Amino acid sequence: MALLLDVDGTLLDFAPTPDAVHVPPGLPPALRALRARLGGALALISGRPVPEVEALLPDTAAAIAGEHGAALRPAPGATLRRLPLPHPPAAWAEAAAALAAAHPGALLETKPHGLVLHYRRAPEAGPALQAGLAAIAADHPDFAITPASMAWELRPRAADKGAALRAILALPGFAGRVPVFAGDDVTDRDAIAAARVLGGIGLYVPEEFGAPAAVRAWLVRLATEGW
Ligand SMILES: [Mg+2]
Repeated sequence: MALLLDVDGTLLDFAPTPDAVHVPPGLPPALRALRARLGGALALISGRPVPEVEALLPDTAAAIAGEHGAALRPAPGATLRRLPLPHPPAAWAEAAAALAAAHPGALLETKPHGLVLHYRRAPEAGPALQAGLAAIAADHPDFAITPASMAWELRPRAADKGAALRAILALPGFAGRVPVFAGDDVTDRDAIAAARVLGGIGLYVPEEFGAPAAVRAWLVRLATEGW
């Protein structure tokens, strides 16, 4: 078995801003124990950039896919592999910053290949931010706007977590294993489907676990008692 896990909303509870997430002290040791039990076949697949995932959960996963699969760190210390993806025009980030500024509490997060408008602290601004983002990126078929947890994300259509899962399953240490993936978000649906196509298990967190605390308890159990 290879275990592949989303991070925010799956391992970690959401916080008012992405920077403010709390990593329960027991989680990294549980992931390390699990990685050892799986012979190294533990991966993280996140919407965050890879360095952010590394900083949040240091020395845990063998492989990390970031930015919904736009970047892949195939092994600890290895150079990042990047998909040849389009970059959003600089004007889009400026327009999105103005949009966020017009809605107090809204937060703009920029990524190398996309951007995110968070509205957890401005829930009533959600529809206006979606419409504004759609207007900014109108007529650009290479980019899609996807709903995230209290956020709208603009990202290249070519990057998806299903492709990330398949890329990880081709790596040494993962190849030939049955994938088990857990994720909580719309973008995780691609990886859930990919895991099932490969004969594995795709777990949608809201339905299978309810909340990240239950995922963490499951991982601790797996690490100590096995599958
Ligand atoms: Mg998530």
